[in-house]
This record gives sequence, C-alpha cells and structure tokens, in this order.
Amino acid sequence: MSAERHSHLKDLDYSVVQQCMHCGLCLPTCPTYDATKVERNSPRGRISLMRAIADGQLEATKAFGEEMYFCLGCLACQTACPAGVNYAELFEHARAEAEQSGALKSPKRNFIRSFALKWLFMDLRRLRFVARVLCVYQRLGLQSFVRRSGVLKLFPKRLRELEAMTPEIQSRFSAELITPVTPAIGEKRFRVALLTGCAQDPIFSNVNRDTAEVLARNGCDVVTPPNQSCCGSLHAHNGEWEAAQELARRNIDQFPPEKFDAIITNAGGCGSHLKHFSKLLEDDPVYRERARQWDEKVKDVHQWLIECQVSGARYQVGNSAAAPGTSHLPPDTLVVTYHDSCHLCHGQKITAQPRELLRAIPGIKLVDLPESSWCCGSAGIYNLTQPEMAGELLRRKLSHIKSTGAHVVATANPGCLLQIINGAREQGLPLRVVHPITLLAEAYRRRD
Ligand code: SF4
Ligand code: SF4
Repeated sequence: MSAERHSHLKDLDYSVVQQCMHCGLCLPTCPTYDATKVERNSPRGRISLMRAIADGQLEATKAFGEEMYFCLGCLACQTACPAGVNYAELFEHARAEAEQSGALKSPKRNFIRSFALKWLFMDLRRLRFVARVLCVYQRLGLQSFVRRSGVLKLFPKRLRELEAMTPEIQSRFSAELITPVTPAIGEKRFRVALLTGCAQDPIFSNVNRDTAEVLARNGCDVVTPPNQSCCGSLHAHNGEWEAAQELARRNIDQFPPEKFDAIITNAGGCGSHLKHFSKLLEDDPVYRERARQWDEKVKDVHQWLIECQVSGARYQVGNSAAAPGTSHLPPDTLVVTYHDSCHLCHGQKITAQPRELLRAIPGIKLVDLPESSWCCGSAGIYNLTQPEMAGELLRRKLSHIKSTGAHVVATANPGCLLQIINGAREQGLPLRVVHPITLLAEAYRRRD
C-alpha cells in the first residue's frame, strides 16, 4: 500500500480551515465575485472548496486549481471578515495543494514555472542578467523599432499584449545607486537593513535609492548589500512552498534580525509576506526562533517613518518641521491621489501612514481615490495569467483615478506601479505614477 500523499490543506491547522461561518459579509468586497456573481468565485465559495478537500470530501481537481488561480489573493475578504478568517494562509496552502496534485500540469505551464520560479527568481543574478539584456534592447532603440515595424502583428494576440506590458528597465540597478552602507545624515539613531526586491531592483531601482536617502535623512544607517535574494512571496503565492522556505532562510542569514533595529521594505506585496516567516518556518527547529525575531523587525517603510516620529526621531517631512525648504511651494500645487496596494492595506493594515506622509509634503494636495483599496488587477503575476479580469480591474481603477482630477497617483508596490503606468500609457493619460517615498525624497531635495 502506498503511503498517503502529504496534503497542504489536510495538514493545515483545522482551526484555520473551519473558521468561516458562511455569513457572506466578505462577498461585496471580492472583485472576482463582483464580476461574476458566482458563489464559487467568492471567498466563501473558495473556502468551502478548501474545507471539502481538508475534510477528504473532494480531490484537488483541475477545476479547483483553476478557481484558486482565478482568485487575486488580494485579501480584501480578510479585511471584511468579522470572524477573523485567515484567508492569506488558506490561499497559500490551497495553491500549494493545487500544485502538489499536479492537476494543472502541462508542458508549457511546467516550463514557464520552472524557468521563472525555480531558475530566474531563485538567483537574482540571473534576473539582473536578463534585465541587462532587455535594457540594451530598449536603449539601442530596438524595442521601438520592432514596435514600429509592424512585425509584432505576425505574433499571436496574447504575445503582443505581453510585449506591450514590458517594463522600462533602469540603466542602473540598486547596487549601482546605493552604497552598501548609507550613513545617517545628522545624528545616527538607528541601524536598518533595506531590502531591494527582485523585479523592483531593475525596474524601480530609483525607488530603492529614494528609500535609502529618506531613511538616512531620518537618522538611519542604511545597510543595503548587493546580491540580495528574492523574498519568496512570488513562490509562496504560487504554490512553491519549499522554494519560499529556502528563500526565507537565505534572507534571515543575510540580514540577521538581531543586528538591525528594523528590516525595511518599500514594496507592499513583499512586506506582507516578509512579516510571516515564522509561519513559513514553524517546523524548522534551526530557523524557527530567528524567524520570529525577523517578523518583529520587518517594517514597511511608511510604517517605520511614522514609528520613528513617535519614538522621537528626526522625522522631518511635516508641514511645520519638515522639508522646510519646500514651504515656498504654493499650497495645492500638485494634486495627488493614493491607491492602496492590496498587500499593504489588506495584508499589513497600513493605510494611514502613507497618507500621513503624503499630506506632510508641502505643495501637495491629497485627494481621496474612490475604491482606493479595490485591486488594480496587478496581483503579483495575475495580470499575466488572467489578462481579462486584470484588464477589467485596471479600467475600473483608471476611471476612478480620472474622476479625482489628480496629476499624480502614488502607490507603494511595484506591481501596482507597473499596472497603472501601463494602463495610463494605453489610455494616453497625462498621469505620473510614483511611489510615495519618491515624492518625499524629491521634497527633501527641493529643500537642499
Ligand atoms: S483574495 Fe480577493 S479575489 Fe480572492 S477571494 Fe478574497 S477578495 Fe476575492
Ligand atoms: S470568510 Fe468571513 S466574511 Fe466571508 S463568509 Fe466566511 S466568515 Fe463570513
């Protein structure tokens, strides 16, 4: 008799699996349910499927796997749930269950997953190499030439859509913009580590540079070693549990939590994952305790800057004390609106801090974005795997942005930045899409 296969959902703490009381209060907050009105596409429906598998009443079929990948993982349902259902944990184990069952396997899918998750993002030197090649292709004008030549019409529609989403690669990556240690400006109060991310590094290295600068201006020695590892959120959200654990261990080894006052991330999606290494490594006797310390030290950059203020640090962006040189700017020069990254607001419950920082920048008028915490459709790689639903969500987001009359949209996650940049470009909107920390860094520079 063969040994019974390990099952992520059957092995999950049953108190997590059975917590849903089927009240349906999460349904109006779920973008996929809102689009289809099908119970299966709702949090309640998905949790019922997960529970049926945990109870041994259902096998992890192809339909189950497809449903788990139709879910955005946006965690809006988790915010809405009065029973405290941990949808994030259920979702990760459900996708891992779908992968483990092999129900979704196909040669093309296997190849793409092996290439991206097991090769490219397991060693970021490879990702940077690919990004350099892409950068040369873009800087030499080859991309523009190919686009203008019409040759892309020969390719299938889906490939053309993917090509149009290719991000602009920065000419210099984080290690070329940030020294391994950026000393605090003025009195040193903290020693922090800065995580530069995976795709964030080649695409938004400027945001990493701005983050290091703002932290230094707030009394932090900023340790930013080159050759960092991916945080593993991409792997955890796509059912690659062991790879996510391996990357968590590497991060803890590279940034021993006992050596830092805080470990800083500026990406909402990464932060949401980075704060739960203790769950990921709870069965690892070597790393369990260090992972617990790690979770306590990980801070989103906005959260950390506000905590610095509370702890009496030189938090200097407020209208009175902060960026004083910028006070010459007329009030309300720049109309800015703020889009909540799902994993910053629902995953980490950080909503007030970025707004507080933005309001503190002289010259900025912050206007509310309707449905600011409704997913923009980026959702990790969801816009690549589920283009129709992602496109629908993007159009909805852009129409709300347009209604605000803002010149600038601030958002704190590379996926959201890219998604809205691409959408604005496609619709020809004169919109600047930017990380809040960049606006803050620019305010400091205007002061100097
Ligand atoms: S994570 Fe988002 S898409 Fe998935 S069930 Fe919850 S609200 Fe719906
Ligand atoms: S997940 Fe929460 S809000 Fe949704 S049906 Fe279950 S208990 Fe109700």
